[in-house]
Amino acid sequence: MQNADVLIVGGGLVGCATAWHLARGGAQVVLVEAGDIGMGASGQNAGSLHFQLERRFLENGEALAEQAAQTAALNRLAIDDWRRLETELGADLHVVMDGGLMVAETAEQVAILERKVARENAQGINTRLLDGDEARTLAPCLSPGILAAGFLADEGHADARSVTRAFAQAAAASGASLHSRSPVTSASRIERHFEIGFRESTVRAERLVLACGAWTPILCAKLNLHMPLYPVALQMNATERTGPRIGHLIQHVGRRLSMKQTDAGNILIGGGWPARLASDPRGAFDPAGKPVLIPASLAGNLRAAIDTAPFVETLNLIRTWTGVTAISADQLPIVGEVPSMPGCWVAGGGSAFTLGPTFARLMAQAMVGTPTPELDIVSPARFEHLNSFMG
Ligand SMILES: Cc1cc2nc3c(=O)[nH]c(=O)nc-3n(C[C@H](O)[C@H](O)[C@H](O)COP(=O)(O)OP(=O)(O)OC[C@H]3O[C@@H](n4cnc5c(N)ncnc54)[C@H](O)[C@@H]3O)c2cc1C
Repeated sequence: MQNADVLIVGGGLVGCATAWHLARGGAQVVLVEAGDIGMGASGQNAGSLHFQLERRFLENGEALAEQAAQTAALNRLAIDDWRRLETELGADLHVVMDGGLMVAETAEQVAILERKVARENAQGINTRLLDGDEARTLAPCLSPGILAAGFLADEGHADARSVTRAFAQAAAASGASLHSRSPVTSASRIERHFEIGFRESTVRAERLVLACGAWTPILCAKLNLHMPLYPVALQMNATERTGPRIGHLIQHVGRRLSMKQTDAGNILIGGGWPARLASDPRGAFDPAGKPVLIPASLAGNLRAAIDTAPFVETLNLIRTWTGVTAISADQLPIVGEVPSMPGCWVAGGGSAFTLGPTFARLMAQAMVGTPTPELDIVSPARFEHLNSFMG
C-alpha cells in the first residue's frame, strides 16, 4: 500500500490545479484519473471566462439571482487568478481578457440587464450598461437589433484544451504523481484515513479530494455520502476560421448564447443548449456515455448566434460536440470539506472553467488552515441534512 498526504480523484481542471497547488506547497499528492487528463468537461467546454451573472441565475426569480450575486467575491478572485495564470504556469493558454458583452434584444431583457448590472455593481463587479449604439461601437459585429449590453472589461476566454494539460504538467513538475486510465474502484474511510483502490493499487491518504465532475455523487456513494450533483449534457459548435470579427466574449441575457473567436479564427458558439444524456441498461443516466446531439438545440443555438451577430450566417459550421458537466441542487457549486466526513473535500458543479483555478487555490489554502471565507457560500455544509441519516 502506498501512502500520500492527499489523494485526488479526477484529472480535470479542478483536480489538476488542486494537485499543483498542494504539491508545490510540499504535500505528497497522488491524482487518479479514469480516462485521460482533461478529457471530461474541462476539455469539452466553451472556454468562456464569464464574471457577469449567468443567464441561468436570472430566469428563475429574484431570490436565485440574489444568491448567485453573493458569489461575486469568488469572481473577483478568479479575475486575478486568470490574469496571472499564463505567467505562473509558464504556458500559452490563449487567455484573452479584453471584456465581455451580455446583450439584450427586447425591452423586457433590457430591464433584466439593468437589475443585473445594479446587483453586480453592489457586489463590486464593475459591469457598465451600454445602449445599443455604444455596444455596436465597441463590437461592430452586433446586430442592429441589440438594444443594450452589459459590458465587463475583465471577461474573456481561454483555450480549454490547453489549460488542464498545463496544470497537470505543472503538478507533475512539482512532484505530484498522476495516474491516468486508472478508474477508482473502491473508496473507504478507515479511522482517520481514506483507502482508495485503482488498478492493482491502494493508496492510503489523510485527505481525499473528489473533483470528478458529474461523477462526484458516484464516488461519494462509495463513502456512503449523498452529494446533490446531477449530470447535464450540453452541446457546442465551431465554425470555420475567418478574419478577426469578434474581439469580446458575447453572451445574451435572454437567450442561451455564448460566442467568441479563437486565436485560430474559429467562432465558438454555445451557451448551455442541452444534449441528451446517455443512459445505462437499467435506465439511469450514464455520465460516462456519450451524450446525443439534439437537432433543435443546434438550430436554436445557431439562430441565437445569427440574430446577435448576423455575419455568422456566412460561415460554415465545421464541428459540433457534446460534453457532460455537473449541476447542483441549488445551481451553486459545491466546494469544500464535508462536515460529516472530515478530511473529505468535494469540488463539483458551477462554471468551473471560469472558477476552477480559484476553487483549487482556495481548497489548497484551506487544507493548510488559511481562512477562506469566500468558499463559505459554496460549502457542502448547506447539504449536510442529506447526510444526517448516513453512517
Ligand atoms: C459543453 C460545455 C461547455 C461549458 N462551457 C463552460 C464555459 O464556457 N465556462 C465555464 O466556466 N464552464 C463551462 N463548462 C463547465 C466546465 O467545463 C466544468 O465546470 C469544469 O470543466 C469542471 O471541471 P472538473 O475538473 O470539476 O470536472 P471534469 O473536467 O469533468 O473532470 C472530472 C474527471 O473525473 C474523472 N473521473 C470520473 N470518475 C472517476 C473515477 N471513478 N476514477 C477516477 N477518475 C474519475 C473523469 O474521467 C473526468 O476526467 C462547460 C461544460 C460543458 C460540458
